[in-house]
Amino acid sequence: MCRSGPSCCSCPLMAFRWDYLDRVPTPNFRILIDDGVMVEQVENAYITKTFPNHYSLVTGLYAETHGIVANEMYDPVLNQSFSMETDSIYDSRWWEEAVPLWVTIQKAGGRSGAAMWPGSDVKIHGMFPNQYLPYNASVSFETRVERIIEWFSGPKEEAVDFGVLYWEEPDESGHKFGPQSSSMDEVIVGIDEKLGFLINELKKAGLYEKVNLVVTSDHGMTQLFTDNIIELDEYVDRDLYTWVDKSPVVGILPKEGKLDEVYSKLVDANPNMVVFKKEEIPEHFHYRHNTRIMPIIIEAKEGWTIMQNRSGPFMFGNHGYDNTLRSMHPVFVARGPAFRQNYVKTSMRSVDLYPLMCHILSIRPQPNNGSLVNVKDLLYPEPTLSTPTIPPRVQEYSYAPVVGSLIGVVMVLGFLVVYIRQVTLRQLPSLKHRSREMSQPLLQEDLHL
Ligand SMILES: [Zn+2]
Repeated sequence: MCRSGPSCCSCPLMAFRWDYLDRVPTPNFRILIDDGVMVEQVENAYITKTFPNHYSLVTGLYAETHGIVANEMYDPVLNQSFSMETDSIYDSRWWEEAVPLWVTIQKAGGRSGAAMWPGSDVKIHGMFPNQYLPYNASVSFETRVERIIEWFSGPKEEAVDFGVLYWEEPDESGHKFGPQSSSMDEVIVGIDEKLGFLINELKKAGLYEKVNLVVTSDHGMTQLFTDNIIELDEYVDRDLYTWVDKSPVVGILPKEGKLDEVYSKLVDANPNMVVFKKEEIPEHFHYRHNTRIMPIIIEAKEGWTIMQNRSGPFMFGNHGYDNTLRSMHPVFVARGPAFRQNYVKTSMRSVDLYPLMCHILSIRPQPNNGSLVNVKDLLYPEPTLSTPTIPPRVQEYSYAPVVGSLIGVVMVLGFLVVYIRQVTLRQLPSLKHRSREMSQPLLQEDLHL
């Protein structure tokens, strides 16, 4: 992810596409898959960009509900702009429409650590993770791993129960070369070697058999072509609108009184883009009910780039497109005491990971769009779900604790490592409720965070 890259548009990092595993030998991923679980197709959150999807993973919410709707945003209520490339990301107000998992864990009496996960170096609802690294792209993957393992290995009263780690590749190279480039082969081999380093360090620390490790990513990547550029200046005067978010899903804020004029100029302008008024955005995107979503959004068809004109920087790979496209889907592999072995699942949604992690941690989730029911087959042994209780969409489950109590989950998100130590209820005396399951996806209106 190019969080610090001045020329790299809005490129979030990671972007380990699900099928990267098949293009070169990835023996370390295979170790985890053989000894754990893999999900072939993970439908992530729309828009398939870095910041929205990282926050979905740790909240279980779609972007319209957690409020991080893009990497570049404008909030008309705050009259403020958010950009990955400015210090605006440290303003808590952008993040507090939701509660990230580390805050929930800490309020329940647990401890958490984050190595450069987006948002983890921001004070949210009055808290940072107990341990965290401020974002600094120059810190090596190895250092991030060593730090997170230190956090897990500390004295019992200081050790974290949950950890996340973020890594910038293969997103950066994917933008530069495009996923179809043979140059990506070497990058993927390098990522697999980094995973091997993580596995080895976990073993050296005596954590490998105790920690639940989730390796996933925020999104995939698709190839772009210089012939496939849409230039908005051909269709509408740029004085009529403000360009808020970037290709491939462009947020358009029309100037006062110009909404219909801008829309009419764009709606049928080019067959390789789809133009929505906000209220027309398809419901299945879960991308409508937030003031930070602009009055008009333009979605490029896969492989196309939207620019104002060709003078801007061009990337040979990008993401952000329709989240039902397979090219946008991330890798998902998990291994540890809570997970089955040698099990392949066809599909899940990325928002389902949140209730799964809460289940492993034995904490009560915040209201969310995910469903433990959708992913409980990944677990060993599968939890027993009782009949629905009141409210009817919520189910209680009885959790069969996995042997041992020092169990974490590490999630590597594309390279993002989420480390979650599983804890028992006994270890969280302040927790009065067992984890609960939202058996049906919540609409944004249903949530009262
Ligand atoms: Zn990116």
